[in-house]
Amino acid sequence: MKTYRCQYCAYKLIVKKDIKKGTKSTKYRMGKHYEEKHKELLPPDMDGFRYFYYLLTKKEHGSCVICKNNTDFNYNTMKYSRFCNNPQCKQKYKEERDKRMMGKYGKLYLLDDPEVQKKMQQGRKIAGVYTWSDNKAKFNYLASYEKDFLLYLDNTLHWPSSDLIMPSPHTYTYEYQNKQHFYMPDAFIPSLNLEIEIKSSERQDKQNKESMEKEIIKDELMKSCSNLFNYIKIVNKNYDKFNMLINKEE
Ligand SMILES: [Zn+2]
Ligand SMILES: [Zn+2]
Repeated sequence: MKTYRCQYCAYKLIVKKDIKKGTKSTKYRMGKHYEEKHKELLPPDMDGFRYFYYLLTKKEHGSCVICKNNTDFNYNTMKYSRFCNNPQCKQKYKEERDKRMMGKYGKLYLLDDPEVQKKMQQGRKIAGVYTWSDNKAKFNYLASYEKDFLLYLDNTLHWPSSDLIMPSPHTYTYEYQNKQHFYMPDAFIPSLNLEIEIKSSERQDKQNKESMEKEIIKDELMKSCSNLFNYIKIVNKNYDKFNMLINKEE
């Protein structure tokens, strides 16, 4: 059994594999202990949460995968963001993705796919734009379910906007009726390497046979890649599974 022990007092926490609903991760609770009980012993530029992360990893700060500048700490995941707050870094990452995809599949082929069209048109035909409460980032959303997810991350969890990309910058390919199709998840959380699909069950009921079959194939594809990335579906604004995942012990 893994146990975290405080360096300064007898406080310890046993890491339990099964997390109860509404419970914060052991890492978070250790961080909170350092923050609340030993603030005066911590380096002046570090809070208790980041200090505990430092004890585990020896990393004093996060660094942006594109520009190497310092990144925000995500207190929900107890990890640093992989991108800084400069929107150009996420943009650059997406452009590199596009170049890779175009090189692999060709522009026309890719733009022929209705799902790719839907996601790529997001810039033009958006349902709305959400501005993060810290004014550091804006996100486009297509449906109220996506907006609700943004509101939940921002207002309820105080999530750093740097640790979210919407839609996901990654494209997955699958075959349906002997034709190649492309799938871009609705959102991606870099620090958790987590792809997210956001939807309503109502929309699922109204789906035709083809989109239902595609949905099953996409779902299986994403689940089969669990050694490469995490995948979760948020249905009807229910964030229980998402909360369990962000508080999961490693
Ligand atoms: Zn202590
Ligand atoms: Zn950057």
